[in-house]
Amino acid sequence: MGGIRRVLPNMVREVTDVGLLEGQMALVTGIANKRSIGWGIAKAFDREGATLAVTYQSPRLKENLDRLLPELSRPPLVFPLDVTDSESLKELRDVLTREWGRLHTLVHSIAHANTEDLSGRFLDTEREGYLMALDISAYSLTALTRELHALLVAAGGGSVLTMTYQGSVRVIPNYNVMGVAKAALESSVRYLAWDLGKDRIRVNAVSAGPIKTLAASGVKGISDALHAIEERAPIPEKISPDDVGNAAAFLASDWARHITGHVLYVDSGFHIMGF
Ligand code: NDP
Repeated sequence: MGGIRRVLPNMVREVTDVGLLEGQMALVTGIANKRSIGWGIAKAFDREGATLAVTYQSPRLKENLDRLLPELSRPPLVFPLDVTDSESLKELRDVLTREWGRLHTLVHSIAHANTEDLSGRFLDTEREGYLMALDISAYSLTALTRELHALLVAAGGGSVLTMTYQGSVRVIPNYNVMGVAKAALESSVRYLAWDLGKDRIRVNAVSAGPIKTLAASGVKGISDALHAIEERAPIPEKISPDDVGNAAAFLASDWARHITGHVLYVDSGFHIMGF
């Protein structure tokens, strides 16, 4: 175990080497390769003692996963998942019910839009591309959470986490329809937090600074966003998937037990800048 020394929640002066997520069952979606934010999260959760299940969308990417997973301390459960397919969501629920019967943490790290909708003018977005981007990148959080709700309740409460970007609240040229999807996603976080708080299920988002991943490489001008962090952020350093993973581990842990409906920026402070 990574062994962050930690004071137990009863605040006795005892310290122990148990991980932040010891005893938790966690599902991490959206691991395409070693640069994925989902992979940074899986590694942090593994280090902190969580038992993991991970998903892949295409069989092609399952090969990437098969190469990565031996890096974890324990082999996770691995399932296919296409969030646009209701059957796929049901199958995931059924298999997790069978294997675990409960779930403490659900990580939604999924987004997709047509490449042509991630450059040029937002004005030119067609209905089909708009609906697809919103379906995969925003609605899927609600669909996945609803499908796995009973498992989260069976765990006695838990935590749902999603990944967002500052393009939801500011204009980032070329981010276009994905900015609109992230605005819907962040609003969904708040409504889900309200619905699920009574079940002791917390719902939060991490707003990550730009990271060069497969999804990000579809957005025109991603390198400008990366340079902007180094040139203008209060902490002039790029963000890594591991940084997001550490913040996600905190949000999934008991230390965040009264934090819900929140968007936590992990962007070296870039979002506070006027220009
Ligand atoms: P990745 O490309 O590594 O991960 C995106 C994941 O979404 C992939 O695993 C992809 O699978 C999956 N996905 C796409 N469509 C579906 C679907 N229909 N069903 C199931 N899974 C699907 O990129 P990131 O790690 O960057 O992206 C993860 C999240 O982080 C996204 O929400 C992204 O918007 C967000 N984010 C990213 C930032 C960045 O700069 N990289 C900044 C802030 C937020 P497949 O490849 O098989 O399609």
